[in-house]
Amino acid sequence: MSVQIHIKETNKVKGVVTNIQTETLSYLTQYFLKNKFRWLLPVILSPVTDPLWPDPRSSGIKPLSVRIYGNEMKLMHSMILHKQVAIALGLKRVFILSPNIRVEPPEKISTGRHAFEFTQLDFEIENATLDYILRFVEDLFVSLIAHIKKNCVEELEILGRDLRVPRRPFRKYYYTDLVEEHGESWEEIISKDNRDPVWVLSIPREFYDREDPQRPGLYRNYDLILPEGFGEVLSGGEREYQWERIKKRMLKDGLKPEDYGLYYDLARKNLLRPSAGAGIGIERLVRFIAGLRHIRDVQLFERIPGVIPRI
Ligand code: AMP
Ligand code: MG
Repeated sequence: MSVQIHIKETNKVKGVVTNIQTETLSYLTQYFLKNKFRWLLPVILSPVTDPLWPDPRSSGIKPLSVRIYGNEMKLMHSMILHKQVAIALGLKRVFILSPNIRVEPPEKISTGRHAFEFTQLDFEIENATLDYILRFVEDLFVSLIAHIKKNCVEELEILGRDLRVPRRPFRKYYYTDLVEEHGESWEEIISKDNRDPVWVLSIPREFYDREDPQRPGLYRNYDLILPEGFGEVLSGGEREYQWERIKKRMLKDGLKPEDYGLYYDLARKNLLRPSAGAGIGIERLVRFIAGLRHIRDVQLFERIPGVIPRI
């Protein structure tokens, strides 16, 4: 294929995908605004970010950092701790389109769902419970897919994408059952086995996801797994907010609480509030809607593990 033809074909798909992405972002942001969320601006550099440890699927990634004003500042892995601080400062419902940098290992290029730079729609609600968030997200997904089917007819046709509006409630699995039954490939297996998105509950991971106080060893958190092999698109949970519990979890994970700046100050004075929320990977969502197999196909400026971009 000549370079010119290649550019033309690439432009066509990326143009169509950009339309779908625009419609998706427009619908999502309107949905959050209608539900009385405050729209926060993203943070890119901070002394404090998500350790991503110990998440069974992102552990081992270290935040990049730069020195400014004589201090080390990290590039954001996610805004989870900022969301909790926003809720502690009195905001009730918040969302952010948050750019995240994660130096995924080069071999992750083959998953088709990892980029080293991507955007999350990250949201958090004061006093929300797991059940509330699952219902909220199911409503959001079902209505978003119906909206896209109606408003992106031409785009879906060009891509040959037959999108199905999911039925609710989405099926629920427990993480430990999945690992017991399928081992490490559980995500691919349940993603291929289901026609609609499914929930995975109780995943042992970072200190901020709440452990069930009545049933230690169970976690009040969730992942949303897309069908057709597209895999995880959302992670979230109820949050730990009591200092003794946070401290115990941080120390167990080998983290130093005093490294956590204002989050630490608020947490140890027990000023954090109960909340729950989640982060939705925008590129992964658009990839699913468009029915494209690699995340590079939905990034206009590709940010793929191990590949140095030219722009
Ligand atoms: P996490 O809380 O780490 O699961 O991140 C929240 C969401 O961001 C995930 O469910 C994915 O949709 C998305 N995400 C995480 N890591 C990546 C990545 N390397 N590339 C693209 N999207 C990602
Ligand atoms: Mg996750």
